[in-house]
Amino acid sequence: MMNCLEFRREKLADPRRLSPGAVAHLNDCAACRLFAAEINENEGRLAGVLAMPVPEGLAERIVLRRKTGTRFAPRLWAMAATVLVTLTFGFRQWKDFASQEYARLAIEHVMHEPESFTTTRLADPQLFRSVLHNFGGELQASLGTVRYMKLCPVPEGTGWHIVFENEAGQLATLILIPAKRMKAGAEQAQVGGWNAIARPGGQGFYAVIADSPDNLAKADRLVRQRVRWRG
Ligand SMILES: [Zn+2]
Ligand SMILES: [Zn+2]
Repeated sequence: MMNCLEFRREKLADPRRLSPGAVAHLNDCAACRLFAAEINENEGRLAGVLAMPVPEGLAERIVLRRKTGTRFAPRLWAMAATVLVTLTFGFRQWKDFASQEYARLAIEHVMHEPESFTTTRLADPQLFRSVLHNFGGELQASLGTVRYMKLCPVPEGTGWHIVFENEAGQLATLILIPAKRMKAGAEQAQVGGWNAIARPGGQGFYAVIADSPDNLAKADRLVRQRVRWRG
């Protein structure tokens, strides 16, 4: 009999094709049914992000494209390949809180991903510009050097987690969250030395996170000055 861990591993490896053992587990386990539903939902959102049709499972599609040599930009391939791994962590994290604690949740998200400050990942200004555009924002001028970009679990799906470095070498995090609109105009939080502000924008809202009130004020101002939100 397959256990929950085995089921989740299999579901992540190939979301659209489950073995008979996995199907049997799914019938018996409510927690894994929920998990599977979230994966399916996130896979759909990812397809939207990549702006490509998904005739089959994501993993399958990647393999297919590679085999047939169909154009599939290496950057998108790298993005897609890492998404399923990203999904293994953090679904519950955002959902355990009242809906208007987004700034605080953003801080907790960053605290659980310390590698975002030490790793260079998808550090591509063009990719950032197009991700922001798809989210509903137009970059008027640079926010600094993009150091890290990752699709992460956020309320109601997946959102982009981005780390920038300004000219003074200070790091700031921007998380784009395609969830229902915030009720408040802005929301701030402070947890364990971290400071965050969440504001409505684009397809939902965004959060800026920094390691001091001063750096947060600077980063928040920069985003407000340099990103124009549509609609
Ligand atoms: Zn289970
Ligand atoms: Zn993240």
